[in-house]
Amino acid sequence: MIVVLLGPPGAGKGTQGERVAAYLGVPKIATGDVLRAAVKAGTPLGLEAKSYMDRGDLVPDAVILGIMKQALAAPEQARGVVLDGVVRTVPQAEGLAHVLAELGKPLDVVMLFTIVEDELVARLSSRTVCDACQTPFMGRQPGETHAECAHDPKGRLVRRKDDEPDAIRNRMRVYDAQTAPVISWYRAHGANIAEIDALGTLDDVTVRALKAVGKG
Ligand code: AMP
Repeated sequence: MIVVLLGPPGAGKGTQGERVAAYLGVPKIATGDVLRAAVKAGTPLGLEAKSYMDRGDLVPDAVILGIMKQALAAPEQARGVVLDGVVRTVPQAEGLAHVLAELGKPLDVVMLFTIVEDELVARLSSRTVCDACQTPFMGRQPGETHAECAHDPKGRLVRRKDDEPDAIRNRMRVYDAQTAPVISWYRAHGANIAEIDALGTLDDVTVRALKAVGKG
């Protein structure tokens, strides 16, 4: 099953995507995670992406399409995949449609997470992530140790640069200008769009998300 997660930053796509992917028994690909890992490792991809990411701007489509093509062709994706944050512009939606057509795979569902902007800003400004495994936390302070980290027990909680107030505001504008048109594009192309109310407890939202993939 191929699932695309759409929705503004802070709507919970990453956390819910993790849960949906585990439930379906398929991997989750998050371009944000791929890019952050590249930045950390200092690869050419990371060096190219860093300044866009720090400002909260989108990385160029050509870069994202390259990551997407490579990831979808991998054998682990044969049973399906949950794509988190991958389709953020209309050219990316077109590119994904093209890659899936080549692979002979349908796009089963577009999950659209909806939530009011004030809640998003509140969530993103109280978010820290483990610098080793990227797990997000709400209300825990930068500098705390993520003792349960599966990658590194000395993992530290940090504030993402793009969760600083100016970058948050920029990401919202970028979402409205560049990603919201993707929703209309999918509607015009007859995609199966499931709107998920992203307000509520993690478990409430997971129940809604699983219903959208026929599990619940
Ligand atoms: P995320 O973790 O999904 O919030 O992504 C963090 C940052 O990575 C974004 O603000 C962009 O700079 C970049 N990024 C991730 N996915 C994409 C994408 N599909 N298109 C363009 N930029 C992306």
